Amino acid sequence: MEAVDEVPAVIAAANLTSAGSHHASAALAAVDTLIERGFTICDIVADRAYNMAKADTWTLALAERAIDAVFDLAKRQRGTHPGKKTGTILIDGTLFADSLPKHLRHLPSHHEVTGSAETLDLTNLYDKRMAFAYKPMQRNDGRTRYRGPIRADRVNSRIRCANYPYSLRAPQDRPTTTCTAGEPCGCGGTVTLEDNHFPNIRQRNAYGTTAWHKDYHRRNLVETANSQIRLPGALRRGYTRVFGRIKNALLIGFTIFAHNHHCIVNFYRARSLPIPNQFTVIDPVATESAPADINLPSRNEPQGRASPG
Ligand SMILES: [Zn+2]
Repeated sequence: MEAVDEVPAVIAAANLTSAGSHHASAALAAVDTLIERGFTICDIVADRAYNMAKADTWTLALAERAIDAVFDLAKRQRGTHPGKKTGTILIDGTLFADSLPKHLRHLPSHHEVTGSAETLDLTNLYDKRMAFAYKPMQRNDGRTRYRGPIRADRVNSRIRCANYPYSLRAPQDRPTTTCTAGEPCGCGGTVTLEDNHFPNIRQRNAYGTTAWHKDYHRRNLVETANSQIRLPGALRRGYTRVFGRIKNALLIGFTIFAHNHHCIVNFYRARSLPIPNQFTVIDPVATESAPADINLPSRNEPQGRASPG
């Protein structure tokens, strides 16, 4: 979370679409607009509605644009699939050697636990199974190469397996598999998976791990922005008094501009830093009756309805 705190968080794009249009298509159009304007987008954190949509409309569309999709898994997306390579198994979107101990295979979802201690304990279990995971290496031409937990270059392995005698020289505190020497297993070697191999459940950090939490929960910033922009008075029914998507989008653009300005100014104020010149305005707090918090203009008459994309 340190990185996201270095700059003010702002809404970079919004796409106002008509009710009933597809959320992923709307978001993708916003992504393409940002790319056209010179933004580099490395990854997008989105809620489950997106990776539950058809892969062509979101995860694969992002992969085509070299953008990593980061997401949570729905209950029905969790579970086990046979791996493409003998001796491997795909669990919760991550490829493991099937020497992964049984007690680490079916872990509860993070939605099933409450309390920080329980979450930490569960995260530790997810982290523990990473010793058996295949790690993504290069991605090329819509395919990613993964390397097994026991490395061919004989670097100390994360697990110890009888089929790879050199791995047994790794420290004794590393997990030792129950593989039988001479019987094929999936502890070592590489495997290449195409982008379209379970695209809606595979992501760069394994679901449930500490790394995944850090990655996915950057989304809290989005939730904060979504709720702030709906502060009393803002973006309620009747907030704009024009008809038509384009007119509404134009007016909401001003609202988002004001919201972003508020976020930027607050970012510097909270750190007791000088507000850069380009962001200074006459401070509404200095006027007598204005409230300290931003109070976006509101109107009471219901007429139209808009929601940020
Ligand atoms: Zn093995």
